[in-house]
Amino acid sequence: MHSRLRIIQGDITRQQVDVIVNAANSSLLGGGGVDGAIHRAAGPALLAECRQLAASRGGCPTGEAVLTGAGNLPARAVIHTVGPVWRGGGQGEAELLASAYNNSLQLAAEHRFATIAFPAISTGIYGYPKAAAATIALRTISQFLQQHDYPQQVWLVCFDEESYRLYRQHSEQAD
Ligand code: ADP
Repeated sequence: MHSRLRIIQGDITRQQVDVIVNAANSSLLGGGGVDGAIHRAAGPALLAECRQLAASRGGCPTGEAVLTGAGNLPARAVIHTVGPVWRGGGQGEAELLASAYNNSLQLAAEHRFATIAFPAISTGIYGYPKAAAATIALRTISQFLQQHDYPQQVWLVCFDEESYRLYRQHSEQAD
């Protein structure tokens, strides 16, 4: 695993990083899971900004990413990205998941954010198998870090113990 990548267990809304990533849906109008938690913690300013973005650009397509402020969160900004819904693996899910990570990292690099925290995109409501998603997340982030100086540190924030163990296991295999 890349030395600038860390795996931790916790709540992404509480992380003291420059930018956190939201596993949003393409409407950008809020949802359950980590999206709901981020909006609850950030407060109404974030939802207002997302509504504006939804109106002006019609949301965010799967695999892409957009930047907003962070309202009351400790982070300075939020990158909203949309992972794929798992439909059995034959609908380009792996490529779309890698794009969600890559486009988020690209936005962070453009804005010179030093630290970024990701949730396990698509592994909740969107049903992506956790082990396969872990492999893609770790590989995509490691490759990006090899080629870019920013972001300087990437945290993968696992909400539950099972995901944390899985990500740790996969990172050891990748070494
Ligand atoms: P998706 O729709 O992309 O599957 P979810 O929000 O349903 O998004 O789930 C993505 C991952 O985020 C899941 O592994 C879920 O356990 C995790 N998650 C939920 N709440 C939080 C949180 N507060 N901090 C970090 N991860 C979270």
